[in-house]
Amino acid sequence: MRDKIVAGNWKMNNDLAETEDLLSKIKLEWEGTEGVRVIVAPSFTNLHHAFESLRDTQVEVAAQNMNQHENGAYTGEVSAKMLTSIGIKTVILGHSERRAIFKETDEVLAEKVNTALKNDMEVIFCCGEELKERKNNDHFEVVKGQLENGLFHISEEALEKVVVAYEPVWAIGTGETASPEQAQEMHAFIRKSIEEKYGKDKAAEVAILYGGSVKPSNAKEIFAKEDVDGGLVGGASLKAEDFLAIARAF
Ligand code: PEP
Repeated sequence: MRDKIVAGNWKMNNDLAETEDLLSKIKLEWEGTEGVRVIVAPSFTNLHHAFESLRDTQVEVAAQNMNQHENGAYTGEVSAKMLTSIGIKTVILGHSERRAIFKETDEVLAEKVNTALKNDMEVIFCCGEELKERKNNDHFEVVKGQLENGLFHISEEALEKVVVAYEPVWAIGTGETASPEQAQEMHAFIRKSIEEKYGKDKAAEVAILYGGSVKPSNAKEIFAKEDVDGGLVGGASLKAEDFLAIARAF
């Protein structure tokens, strides 16, 4: 049985006081549901605090990014070891903002995936097409390329530490959501691609999250689809009430 997951990507939002406020609301109101993982991804500066604050609760903490190198002269960067040393065991990699704004290529992402797995971290691997690619009917090819070039070099065993997040770029922060049918179609395609590489049993175990303007009003319909195992949530994760309404939408 696959995990159901709702992960909140806070992006570059919330200073320490705002982080404390949001965490305290989430802690208070999330009682935990069997089989559902709730994860928050605050900024690097607030990760340690978040981890300590959520210790002994049903809420997990993830990083939004990390560097592919183990250590060294990479000013301003954060390593896997720095994250694991403060208790962080999950990292989001390949978010479309990292790909588009910070020019992270599939090759760099493949290295980041390796480094995370080598450090025994779980990876939430993001993929998704841009609007023009969907309009040109290239979306399946684009997503398959991202998976093949950034993820599919890992071993069958390592795949157990991977969650895939399908995030069509045109739906991120735009208020526009993929329809539940569009999400299901791509999730089924992603699962099929994993199956072709790793076999049916392995593919059936990988959680695939949808991301792109998930809100309390649309989460239930999207999560009801067979191959949608939850959501990676941006904007709506910044309000405890909305985020937890999404976590309760299974
Ligand atoms: C995201 O950034 O991962 C995301 C899905 O954002 P939003 O929910 O705001 O579209």
